[in-house]
Amino acid sequence: MDKKHAKKIKRDKKKKKEKKQAQEQDQQMRKQMNMFDRMPKVCSACEKGFPKTREAHMTWRVVVRNEKQQVRLFCPECQEKIDEGIDKMFGDNDDKAGI
Ligand SMILES: [Zn+2]
Repeated sequence: MDKKHAKKIKRDKKKKKEKKQAQEQDQQMRKQMNMFDRMPKVCSACEKGFPKTREAHMTWRVVVRNEKQQVRLFCPECQEKIDEGIDKMFGDNDDKAGI
């Protein structure tokens, strides 16, 4: 094997590796895009439209149920309601707890 040939093999190997990495990245991106496709465009509770702003991305909550691949979206107002609801639920449980 001459030097030139060795170099070519090395280059081919590198190319193969790069190709594999690109494929993996592509797959991951597709997965994320798929998730994004599934994301509702409105709040799952009050059906308010999701504004495509940076602030909205920071404040709206995305809840993913992996087993069902369900994605729910909650606006800041509904998050508060949900949190209150959880508090109430726990409060009720406390009231009913005991003998
Ligand atoms: Zn809402």
